Formats: sequence, structure tokens, C-alpha cells
Amino acid sequence: MYSDIENIHKWGSWDISNSKPLIIAGPCSAESEQQVFDTAKKLKANGKVDIFRSGIWKPRTRPGQFEGIGHRALEWLQNMRDEIGLPFVIEVANTSHVEHALAASADALWIGARTTVNPFYVQEIAEALKGTDIPLLVKNPIHSDLGLWIGAFERFDKSGIKNLAAVHRGFYASNSAPYRNDPKWELSFDLRRLAPNIPIICDPSHIAGNSALVEQIAQVAMDIQMDGLMIEVHPNPKQALSDADQQLTPEQLDSLLQGLVTKSKYVTPLELQNIISKQRKILDNLDSQVVELLEKRMNIVDELGHIKADNKAGIFQMERWFDLLKQRGDQARDLGLNEDFINDLFQIIHKYSVEHQTGIYQGLRGEE
Ligand code: PEP
Ligand code: MN
Repeated sequence: MYSDIENIHKWGSWDISNSKPLIIAGPCSAESEQQVFDTAKKLKANGKVDIFRSGIWKPRTRPGQFEGIGHRALEWLQNMRDEIGLPFVIEVANTSHVEHALAASADALWIGARTTVNPFYVQEIAEALKGTDIPLLVKNPIHSDLGLWIGAFERFDKSGIKNLAAVHRGFYASNSAPYRNDPKWELSFDLRRLAPNIPIICDPSHIAGNSALVEQIAQVAMDIQMDGLMIEVHPNPKQALSDADQQLTPEQLDSLLQGLVTKSKYVTPLELQNIISKQRKILDNLDSQVVELLEKRMNIVDELGHIKADNKAGIFQMERWFDLLKQRGDQARDLGLNEDFINDLFQIIHKYSVEHQTGIYQGLRGEE
């Protein structure tokens, strides 16, 4: 549905045409004018940073933690932009935030993970932004519901806001070790498939949760062709009032950006391209055989379903199912394949077999 968005490689006035990733960096929270200036000076000197980020209203899980400076910090950001020359992006979560941000001519806005999750908040912000063309970043919702992420884009789109980009910041999971959030990269692939023109920026800081792991996540984001990075940077991370563990020093950011292998640095010589395409042909052929085998298997499932239904036998036999999983699991182990992979695959195959046979039963009942 987004294929009609014209600014394919543009988000606001920033060109995200793949040669250089868009780099957004700055502290989790603006804490003092001094801290904003100290950080921004170093980020400007880095030369690769496009936009300064900082939260001024902080959505904290529990009360009593540092909840941000509030709209007073907008003046610091405006001064920073005037004197240092970096545009700034801040988070907004309600109409009042939007009004303050627009009055201060913020260069861009982002919607946080705890806001995307709630259609009421998203709608409220979409209404408040009507008639503006301010570039907007939409972070993924905190839990892995692609529909809510897409729904937020649809709400903004309906309000006439076209300068949209996504931020992939990972998803809450009960076990996301070694990261703070589970990256679930596949959700960003799904987003790209459904809305190919929306640029996707990765936020490795909130995925990693730990400064030592930020670089590896940032590299994965580049490897899967994301369009940019939003990275938390603080002049003195240990003293940070929020997200102290995951913020980089400006020097650490310099070294991360220096070492990053970006799309423009990838080379795929012709010879390598030929090898890759030969191997892919072999894979295509094998995949086609897998589908043909699944079709043969489904025909037997169908025959069996009719036999069971005619004889009024139950569809699902627990022992048979456990036996099947064990046999295929043993076979996988003998072949050196990951047992979980084969187990997951047969869960899907079995689910559709049972569904198919249930359909046969229902069809026969309908005829009775
Ligand atoms: C942030 O960027 O500091 C932030 C609060 O992010 P998220 O909404 O992704 O948790
Ligand atoms: Mn943060």
C-alpha cells in the first residue's frame, strides 16, 4: 500500500540512497545544556553524523526514575543547532509534546516503542501532526506485533504525513540474552516486503542494551541493507541518567563508524556472482523438490483422512505424533542437522495435515 510514496530514498531532506547510511546519534536523554553541547561538538567533529538525537520526555517503566527535562530542553537543542549546526530529532508521545516540538522547529520526530504499541496514542499524534510535513520515525512496538507497526504507518499516512521511516529497535522477550531485546530481524524483512519504500533505520543501542554489543548489531543492520543507524552516545556513559549501560562514548562511536562495512564498501566481483548464482540454482531445484514431496505427502494425508473419517476413527493420535517426531529427530541428528530445525518444520507440516483432515471430517458431517 505504500508503493505510492514518492520519496523512495528520501526521508525529509536526507538522501538515504544507500551509498552512506543515515547516522543519528546522541544521548538517550538531554540532561543539561553542557551535556548536549559536549556531545554535539564531538559528533559534529566526527563528520559522519547527520542528526542529533536526545529524549526530553522519557517513558520510564517505573515512576521515580529520571523522566526527562521536558520542554525546557528544547531551548538547549535549538542553541546547539544554531551554534554547532546539527539538526535534532526528539521523541513525542502526545499532543502537547508535538505542539512544543513544532513550536521549537524540531527537524524530525520519533515515536517510541511504548507509543507505537497503543493505537490511541498513535492516532492522537497523527491528528496533532496533520498539515505538517515534518519527518517522522516510527519505532517498532515493544512486543513483536508487526500489525501494530504497520497500523501506525497507516494512521500517519491517512493523516497526510508522508515523510516516514521505521526504526527497528528490537522486541521485548522473556529470554533475549545476550541482548536487552530480541532483534527478530525477520520482522523488519516482513515490513520491507509489505512497505518496500519505507526506509528502515536500526537502533542497535536498544537492541543490545550493552555498549560492548552495539557494534556487532550495527554491522548486522548494514549487512541486511538497512538504511541507517540511531545510536546512543553520551560524553560520560557511566554517569548517564538513563540507559547508562548501552551508551557509547563519542570516541567509541568514531571507531564503530570507522570499522563499519557499509553497502558502498561491498564488492561482489563477477566471478563470485557467478558462483553465488550457480549455488542458488541448485537451491531452487532442491526447494522445488521439497514442495513436490510435500504435495505427495499431502495426497497421502488426504487419503488417510477419508479412511479415518469413513471408519469414524479419531484424527489425532498422540503416540503416532510423538513417534514421528522422534524418528525424524533421530534421523536429523544422524545427518548432523539441527534437531530443533527439523522439529519446528514437522510441527508446521503436522499442523496443516491435521487442519486438512479436520476439513474432511467437517465436509462429511455437512453432507450427513
Ligand atoms: C529511546 O530511544 O531512548 C527510547 C526510549 O527508545 P524506545 O522507545 O525504543 O524504548
Ligand atoms: Mn534510551
